[in-house]
Amino acid sequence: MECEKASALMMQYMDKTLSEADAAKLNSHIKGCPVCKEEFMVYDKILREFETMEVISAPDDFCDTVMEKIRALDFKRPASTVKDSMLCVIWGVFSVLLGLGLLASMYKDTVIEYLASTGRFDLFLKTLAPVTEYVNLFTEGLTNTFTSLSSGLSALVSPVRLTLLVIFAVLAGIQYVIYKKNKAEI
Ligand SMILES: [Zn+2]
Repeated sequence: MECEKASALMMQYMDKTLSEADAAKLNSHIKGCPVCKEEFMVYDKILREFETMEVISAPDDFCDTVMEKIRALDFKRPASTVKDSMLCVIWGVFSVLLGLGLLASMYKDTVIEYLASTGRFDLFLKTLAPVTEYVNLFTEGLTNTFTSLSSGLSALVSPVRLTLLVIFAVLAGIQYVIYKKNKAEI
């Protein structure tokens, strides 16, 4: 028998699940193997120590004492927690606004047409006109940038989808970093 197998049998011996046949095998291996004999003696000693140990029950106030000690521990709260959570909130709001902005810029014509058709928002639309123009220019610039970046992939994914994908990937990445940073400091 190999020493590895003998070791496994010793574990069974410790668990008191060793069969008589295996005990005989282990015994004969130990007789010829000083290394395993030594190991077995150690285990056997530990087992005997455990068996002679008195079972001590915990004092009645054990739980309370432990909890008190835990409460008394000086948990190091990172000084930047407030700042970080503010950063999280700002990023959350920014992400939502960006998402809404993207959706609005994709469907702006539909929205503007609808508002114009009701006739009730003429003044509002007039005020909005320069803004939409600016948004148009801005999204056009963004789309151009991403289109040139993704020219290689454009055969696989449409530029608009890729733009969204890249933006969400960046946002997810940034939020993941913030999350990890917070977790590490707790
Ligand atoms: Zn051995």
